[in-house]
Amino acid sequence: RGRGTLSVLVRSYGEGLKLVLSQDVTERERSEAMRRDFVANVSHEIRTPLTVLAGFIETMGNLPLTEVERRRVLTLMSQQTQRMQTLVSDLLTLAQLEGSPRPPIDRWVPVSKLIGQAHADGASLSMGRHQFTVTEDIDAQIAGLESELMSAVGNLVTNAVRYTPEGGRISVVWRRRDDGSGEITVSDTGIGVSREHIPRLTERFYRVDGSRSRETGGTGLGLSIVKHVVHRHGGELDVQSELGKGSSFCLVFPAARVRVPEPPALPEAK
Ligand code: ADP
Repeated sequence: RGRGTLSVLVRSYGEGLKLVLSQDVTERERSEAMRRDFVANVSHEIRTPLTVLAGFIETMGNLPLTEVERRRVLTLMSQQTQRMQTLVSDLLTLAQLEGSPRPPIDRWVPVSKLIGQAHADGASLSMGRHQFTVTEDIDAQIAGLESELMSAVGNLVTNAVRYTPEGGRISVVWRRRDDGSGEITVSDTGIGVSREHIPRLTERFYRVDGSRSRETGGTGLGLSIVKHVVHRHGGELDVQSELGKGSSFCLVFPAARVRVPEPPALPEAK
């Protein structure tokens, strides 16, 4: 296939019966390198908060601390523990997404519920620092798993809050396209990212600015989870962003997974 060397294993089992196994070695090496990178990233992400925790434990054991200092150290320790909990929970979510069957096509999730919940979560994280606009009164539904779809839209709104300075605007909008497909778009007027980063944003642990992401509680796995969810639902994630201006993340769902139920018929007037 012109991509790399083929490793071929031929084994004979008596007259005329041969087993031929071949594999693209380059492909195998690439996936092995990805696995190694992944393990190295996870180890690094866990080691950092562990080192901080170990330092605090030593401090508490060796130094006489005032009550105020003791409480401050405990708060910092709790933040580091929370960071590891979020990381482990995101890792488990990714592993489950990779290993489970495609979401059902006969369970319908109201778009208004997805947007309503994401808006509520975003507003509580924002604590009044951003202005929200959301599409209301949507009767469309998407076929799939509510928990996964909720986490995808929720992740996008959480990112919008994290990467948009105070006073910025965030919108969560639903649009049905002419061909029957539908899209949920989360846009912000935040820091944006430059063009060269866009294709890599959904890679596991890829961050444009690692310290900002960590400061705001990010694990670097959010967009990777979003991409998995939308692909599993037969859709696509479309990202547009401009440095210093803002970003827009669009979840596009195919027509086969979008419906607008008929309103119930009104009883006939007598
Ligand atoms: P993280 O936990 O770091 O936010 P994500 O996978 O959700 O991880 O996002 C990956 C990176 O993409 C982030 O670290 C950030 O650099 C960038 N990013 C994601 N969403 C936005 C956004 N709305 N505005 C600007 N940058 C963003």
